[in-house]
Amino acid sequence: MTRQYSITLLPGDGIGPEILTVTVDVLKIIGQQFDIKFNFQEALIGGSAIDATGNPLPEETLTVCRNSDAVLLAAIGGYKWDNLPRHQRPETGLLGIRAGLNLFANLRPATILPQLIDASSLKKEVVEGVDIMVVRELTGGVYFGQPKGVFATETGEKRGVNTMAYTESEIDRIGKVAFEIAKKRGNKLCSVDKANVLDVSQLWRDRITSMATEYPDVELSHLYVDNAAMQLVRAPKQFDTIVTGNLFGDILSDAAAMLTGSIGMLPSASLGLEKPGLFEPVHGSAPDIAGQDKANPLAQVLSAAMMLRYGLDEPEPAQKIEQAVLAVLDQGYRTGDIMSPGMTAVGCQSMGEALLKVLES
Ligand code: NAD
Repeated sequence: MTRQYSITLLPGDGIGPEILTVTVDVLKIIGQQFDIKFNFQEALIGGSAIDATGNPLPEETLTVCRNSDAVLLAAIGGYKWDNLPRHQRPETGLLGIRAGLNLFANLRPATILPQLIDASSLKKEVVEGVDIMVVRELTGGVYFGQPKGVFATETGEKRGVNTMAYTESEIDRIGKVAFEIAKKRGNKLCSVDKANVLDVSQLWRDRITSMATEYPDVELSHLYVDNAAMQLVRAPKQFDTIVTGNLFGDILSDAAAMLTGSIGMLPSASLGLEKPGLFEPVHGSAPDIAGQDKANPLAQVLSAAMMLRYGLDEPEPAQKIEQAVLAVLDQGYRTGDIMSPGMTAVGCQSMGEALLKVLES
């Protein structure tokens, strides 16, 4: 029977519309091949929403997103809106949609593609075969804990305060996401904290440890964050799935992603307890190359694969998309950001056409 999914598309700004067009074409073909009907609707976010409505996240956008099975976002932002007050900035729309959809789990894969191994700043033998998923808690921890602010002390000196806090239920829900993901991958989960110093981390470690009995197939380990940072660049192949809090995850997910060396290739997913999840490339709107057919659409296409796997529980079409990406790279096609000698330079559109050809073959 045909499966139907309603997908909200948020093209946003800059290269967003270009890379999303390629991705929708890919999904349409995949839909035909796997008997899936995607019902797409487009909504405004970021600078384009500011221009049209004065608001970077119109209420209508949030409503459309909430009523869909998944949200596919491209990127927001650009020079034009850089000097607006904070509440009117495109980035406020991005934070607003994550909060509005209660997306507390951020998934950032770092996979070394053999075709792009030379883009990594680390030695080939260190990164070859790296395939890591960082699961970062996104809506708690030190970025949100109270009290926060800059206060005057009794002596008149200013004191800046942020509070790292997690409740048991916040730890349990991100722990569950991470164990489930580890189960779908290599059955290895490393929880990263700073339990030797921070009380909040001790609670984190205790909760994650107690959850392990529900997942007997998943091998659980713990690392302090300083050691985890070291191990990520020393011997990244030891990791499969990593789970950690907001601050540590912010830093470690960027470090892990950069093992791959190419920003135009990195997808991400943000999940809540229920649908819809939000799927987007890690990169921004690249205003320096917008409208010039130079953007690499592959991070966006791989975000659609994450949408299928983690948002819609459709692993087979997800895998087909990922294999098509590897195939076009094997054929030597490269956009400017991943170009290397001897390869065939293509623009965004031609990269999309190459993908469609592979999918149809
Ligand atoms: P950026 O990721 O947009 O660009 C950094 C560099 O990488 C640029 O040289 C750009 O041309 C290149 N690049 C990025 N994506 C590419 C792709 N798909 N193909 C080829 N090259 C690519 O980051 P930035 O320049 O710091 O920010 C530009 C704008 O994007 C800002 O307004 C920023 O706020 C916004 N931004 C948005 C998001 C998001 O929507 N999630 C994330 C980061 C930045």
